[in-house]
Amino acid sequence: MNASRTFRAPGRVNLIGEHTDYNLGFVLPIALNLATYIETSPSPDGRLRLFSEQHRDHRAFVISEIPSLPRSKHWTDYVIGVARELMARGIRIEPLSLNIRSEVPEGSGLSSSAALEVASAFALLQGRQLERLEIARLCQRAEIDFVGMPCGIMDQFVSVFGREHAAIEIDCRSLEYKTVEIPEDVAIIAVNSMVKHELGASAYRNRVEECAIAVDAIRRRFPGVHSLRDANPAQVEKTPMPRLVMRRARHVVTENARVELFVHAAARGDLSRMGELFVESHRSMQHDYEITCDEVDFLVDSAVGIRGCYGARMTGGGFGGCTVNLVAPEETDRFQDSIRSLYKERFRIDPAIFRCVPAAGAAEIRNPALSGAGLSSDAHEK
Ligand code: ADP
Ligand code: MG
Repeated sequence: MNASRTFRAPGRVNLIGEHTDYNLGFVLPIALNLATYIETSPSPDGRLRLFSEQHRDHRAFVISEIPSLPRSKHWTDYVIGVARELMARGIRIEPLSLNIRSEVPEGSGLSSSAALEVASAFALLQGRQLERLEIARLCQRAEIDFVGMPCGIMDQFVSVFGREHAAIEIDCRSLEYKTVEIPEDVAIIAVNSMVKHELGASAYRNRVEECAIAVDAIRRRFPGVHSLRDANPAQVEKTPMPRLVMRRARHVVTENARVELFVHAAARGDLSRMGELFVESHRSMQHDYEITCDEVDFLVDSAVGIRGCYGARMTGGGFGGCTVNLVAPEETDRFQDSIRSLYKERFRIDPAIFRCVPAAGAAEIRNPALSGAGLSSDAHEK
C-alpha cells in the first residue's frame, strides 16, 4: 500500500492593498501558480519529521512535546506553529514525515511563509475536515504567536481561498471575499529584485505600531474609528498627530480606497486606470509608508517607461522582493527583455521574472505525478 499523500498550497501576488490587511481594510491578491507541496508518509519512529528540500534540512519532534516547545527562530517554527494551533483545537497530530518542496521564492514578497503554513495545515489534517476560514485563521495565529510576525490575514486567506482566473478581494474586517475577474487583455508579470533588506521584519512591526498610534489619535476626535479601515483621508488630515504617523495613516486610508477604485476599473476593463492606481500605490508606499528601497523603486520607474506597461508597483511586505507589472500580452517578451537589461545594467543583478496566473487555493493533490508536484526521491532522510 502506498500511504503517501501530497498537499499543495499556493503563494500569492497582491495586486493592490498593501499593509491594509492588519488595518482591517481591503486587499486584492491572486493565488499563484507557484506553490508549496508537502508529501506525507507514516513516520518510522513515531515522531513528526520535517524535511525542507530548499533548506536541505531535517528535524524531528516528539509530538507530545510540541505544545510546550519555545520558538526556535528556525524555518520549522512555521510548521510547528501550525501543529500547535491544531493541537490546541483538540486535533491529533499523527506521526508523519513531511517532505516539503516549494516553488515560491523565499522572502520575495510572494508569501512562501503562508504557503508553508497552509500546506502544513492540510498535511497535518490528513483530509480531516476543518472550515477553510478556520484553517486560514489558525495559520495566521501561528505566524503571529509562534513565529512572532504580527501579520494580517491576507496571505493565509488567499492561499486557502484562491481561484483560477480571478483575484480575490478580501474584506479583512468581515473576512468576506469576492472574486474579481481580471481583464483578459493584460498580463501580470512579477519581477524579483532579488534583494531582501534586513530592515524588513523590524520595520513591519514598527508600521503596525505606528498605525495603532494613528488610530488612538483619530479615535479621540472621531470616536467611531476603531481601526484605520474606519477612517477616511479627511479625518486623518484633521487629527493632530506627529507628521510621520499621519503619513503612515494616509498611506493606509488612501490605499484602501485604491483597492475599490481598482476593482471598479477592472470591471470596466480600464487598463490605463488600473495601471495609474498601481503607480499611485507605489508612490504612497515609497513616500508615505516608506517601505520600498532603491532596487524596487528603480524597477517601477523603469517599468513605467517601457512600451506596453500600464503600471507597476512593489508587492508584499517591502524592502525588496518583487514588483508586479500590468503589461499588454503582446509586449510581454519585449517588456521582460527590457526590464532585465535595465536592472542588470544598474545593479548587476539578474532579476527572476515570471508571468503570474491565478491558481486555485490549497488542496490535496490526487495525482502528484500529473500535476507537476513530483517530489525528488532523494529528499527523505537517510
Ligand atoms: P515571504 O513570505 O515573503 O516569502 P517571509 O520572511 O515571511 O517571506 O517567509 C520566509 C520564511 O519562510 C523563510 O525564511 C523560511 O523560514 C520559511 N520558508 C518558506 N518556504 C520554506 C521552505 N520551502 N522550506 C523551509 N522554510 C521555508
Ligand atoms: Mg511571509
